[in-house]
Amino acid sequence: MEKKNLEWGNLGFEYHVTDMRYVSDYKDGKWDEGRLTADATIPMSECAGIMQYCQQVFEGLKAYTTKDGHINTFRPDLNADRIRESAMRIEMPPFPKEQFLAAVDEVVKANYAWIPPYGTGATFYIRPFEYASTNVIGVKPAAGYQFRIFGTPVGPYFKGGAKPITLCVSDFDRAAPNGTGMVKAGLNYAMSLHANVLAHSQGYDENMFLDPATHTYVEETGGANFLFVTKDGEIVTPKSASILPSVTRRSLVYVAEHMLGMKVTQRAIPFSELKDMAECGVCGTAAVICPVGKVVDHGKEICFPSGMEKMGPVIQKLYDTLTGIQMGEIEGPEGWIHRVM
Ligand SMILES: *Cc1c(COP(=O)(O)O)cnc(C)c1O
Repeated sequence: MEKKNLEWGNLGFEYHVTDMRYVSDYKDGKWDEGRLTADATIPMSECAGIMQYCQQVFEGLKAYTTKDGHINTFRPDLNADRIRESAMRIEMPPFPKEQFLAAVDEVVKANYAWIPPYGTGATFYIRPFEYASTNVIGVKPAAGYQFRIFGTPVGPYFKGGAKPITLCVSDFDRAAPNGTGMVKAGLNYAMSLHANVLAHSQGYDENMFLDPATHTYVEETGGANFLFVTKDGEIVTPKSASILPSVTRRSLVYVAEHMLGMKVTQRAIPFSELKDMAECGVCGTAAVICPVGKVVDHGKEICFPSGMEKMGPVIQKLYDTLTGIQMGEIEGPEGWIHRVM
């Protein structure tokens, strides 16, 4: 099959209407077998649970074309597990894991023409999501749900090299103590949008959110987990009940520990420790890992020794290893790479 005629290297992180998407409905207490459809729109009732009380959860993962022309996904089983956890926290029926995995493959295969070729730096971003599709006016979980997966080609996150970003410490919280910070739900993003727009308008790239109860420990940004490198060359990453468990962060931690022989500790990280760190990065599916050069706390700057020009050496090594595994150039741990075709 011919590939679409896109400028793969110049794509942004934007939605393209691709050929096919997957849909399954939950009705009378069970999920149907699902189907592919060319229809990219969702006609629904004005009173659907998603429209009124925001019952929605989602995932994000990517498909990669390898040098020898195969198409792989990276640890899709973890996304399948996580969307089930997310759904249960929002009182939605969890979508079956095997069906999730098969549906991701179907969407990848059906959109072969849209999957960026090897060497372009671009990838195919896959967005599974589930939402309440039937009417709810009194506050309660809906009776009916829809699960969908679409995909869109996205460009290389770093065009012309990974420049370190600047964060600002937010006065807002992205999560509440005992809230929904640990699940991937659209509602967490709705409540962080104002802080996002504010940070951008003040010239910052992202927010650093602190723990919602005491504002003394580092949590995460709006959509990526933190990794720090200490001056002794150890990796530390925040531990908190309100952080979203990033697949990228869990993978980088494993790579550091088991492939690069580094010491890794997951623990509560007081904000006051940041000034002693050698490197800082934020990680997620979109960028893998993005270096942070500076954190600004109400005008007070914390500048990491790795600087504002390039990734620090440890974060670079982690980035190269994980992207090498994802692109099929480095042998990864067993079960991480799923060959779709
Ligand atoms: C999705 C997400 C991440 C990154 O998770 P990955 O699985 O690595 O893509 C981090 N934080 C939040 C809040 C997220 O929603």
